[in-house]
Amino acid sequence: MYHIGIIGYGGMGGWHAEQLQSMPDFDLTGIYDINPQKLEKAAEKGIAGYSTLDEILNDSIIQTVILAVPNNFHKELSIAALRAGKNVICEKPVMLNSCDFEEVIKVSEETGRLFSVHQNRRWDKDFLMVKKVLEDGTIGKPFYIESLVQGSKGVPGDWRCVKESGGGMLLDWGVHLIDQIMWLVKSPVTEVYAHLLSVKFKGVDDNFKLMMRFENGLSALVEVDTYTFINLPRWHVSGDSGTLQIDDFLCTGKILKANTIEMKWDEGIVYTTAGPTRTMAPRPKESIEELALPQIESDARDYYRNFRDADLNGSELAVKPEQALRVMRVIDAVFESAQKKQSITLHL
Ligand code: NAD
Repeated sequence: MYHIGIIGYGGMGGWHAEQLQSMPDFDLTGIYDINPQKLEKAAEKGIAGYSTLDEILNDSIIQTVILAVPNNFHKELSIAALRAGKNVICEKPVMLNSCDFEEVIKVSEETGRLFSVHQNRRWDKDFLMVKKVLEDGTIGKPFYIESLVQGSKGVPGDWRCVKESGGGMLLDWGVHLIDQIMWLVKSPVTEVYAHLLSVKFKGVDDNFKLMMRFENGLSALVEVDTYTFINLPRWHVSGDSGTLQIDDFLCTGKILKANTIEMKWDEGIVYTTAGPTRTMAPRPKESIEELALPQIESDARDYYRNFRDADLNGSELAVKPEQALRVMRVIDAVFESAQKKQSITLHL
């Protein structure tokens, strides 16, 4: 049995609790939340509560604590938990900037405790489909990846709207999408250029577009919108022999690629009111092949299993601190790009 405690029993703490309770070889030993009402809520579900931080950190049964608190508390609680001898799974974004995270990594090294970040969207089916298509070479060499998440409800009106709490969409969804892209593209990031907008919430970015360039020549667009009423596809990936599109989290979509039938340029010219176009006219149907998206099985609970195995058996950690640090350094550069209104060159 692997014993885990959770600090912060809000939306994500509740999710972690359900995941842990669904795995027979894990024990959700208890939770701590600064808000006593949350302890009552946990008790209703039969989950034990600790009334102070010291109490949960000093419970010797607990091997690992999960930190599911607002972003600005990640640093102090990570350090407190590591110093108390606990391994730590920290929610994303791991910290508000890379300097803070470097301090925490040092404490993790000093104490010899394991540290990982819950980058659970590496287990998302849509992401794993893109990864498989690229690894299989189905659309040839990719040159452009668009990864977008879009909603129209704005930013939840909680700490996510407050800059000092680590609010804003770059740190919220952006960190997932950047982590995914950097996991997908095995090449250093060499340039970022970002527009961060505050459309409805003045203190934080509630919409952003980020261009990333990689050393291997690939470019990526990462976009998060919270006030868009007509969504673009979740993924649109261009390779030199085809295109992949995934529409949404339900993972509908398709792959289209050129087949061996030669295309005739003079057929299918489109006449617009302003003139004809051959370049932007659709390809003749017989010159295209449509493929179904690959079938993917994924269990996001493998994240916890991997962490436990890394702790008990020394197996390789799936989400390593150095990977999260690289992502944080890119995020630092994205904030800098938005602030200076210019692109930032880097080599990460
Ligand atoms: P939330 O506001 O729903 O819950 C936060 C909880 O932490 C609250 O119950 C609050 O009382 C408690 N809390 C606040 N300060 C505390 C402190 N100092 N000590 C103990 N408890 C404290 O927020 P949430 O949506 O659950 O987000 C929590 C974290 O999880 C954030 O870092 C967020 O980015 C992350 N998150 C991750 C994912 C994911 O997919 N990985 C999804 C949602 C949220």
